[in-house]
Amino acid sequence: MQSLSNRAKKLEAKPMTLAERAYLPAIFQGLSITMRHFFRAATKKQVTVRYPEEQRPFSPIFRGLHVLKRDEVGRERCTACGLCAVACPAEAITMVAGERKKGEEGLYREEKYAVSYEVNMLRCIFCGLCEEACPKAAVYLQPDKMAPPRFERDEFIYGKDRLVEPVDPAARSIRGIQLTPEQAQALSQRIAQ
Ligand code: SF4
Ligand code: SF4
Repeated sequence: MQSLSNRAKKLEAKPMTLAERAYLPAIFQGLSITMRHFFRAATKKQVTVRYPEEQRPFSPIFRGLHVLKRDEVGRERCTACGLCAVACPAEAITMVAGERKKGEEGLYREEKYAVSYEVNMLRCIFCGLCEEACPKAAVYLQPDKMAPPRFERDEFIYGKDRLVEPVDPAARSIRGIQLTPEQAQALSQRIAQ
């Protein structure tokens, strides 16, 4: 077949020399390159960090661990509509919806709430689409936290026990940034009213 360009190069399979057939020169050449880089790296400034003991500062646009937010009076915002799960390209979110019962108005903001809500952090690509899809401002990706290292895969499935933000205003955060004492006090007063 005629080539479309004139760049075709005809290659001829030459018989291998004795040195090539022994592979030893190629092995020694490869080893010398490895050793050169090894000793050069030892004298240079270290570019890796000893994670998790050491951590690099987060970028201002970092998206990390999810948090399920409460409203200003401490009720869970999530209404288990499932939009975050539908938007998730990694299918990392699963939930079970339930009906709020009489007397639970102080716990859940809407009539429907998430009985269970799980994010599989091993599937998640931290794109933030769940955050954008949420109509209730209930799920956020924190800019300063990521899933700590674990040995078991199960431990990367985060349920409501680890996702819902604490009731205590002093322990709450705005998009992962700790509330100031003044903000926490103002929130406590609103809850007490
Ligand atoms: S951050 Fe992206 S991948 Fe992770 S749960 Fe949300 S939508 Fe899915
Ligand atoms: S986090 Fe938001 S989008 Fe996801 S189920 Fe709850 S209310 Fe719906």
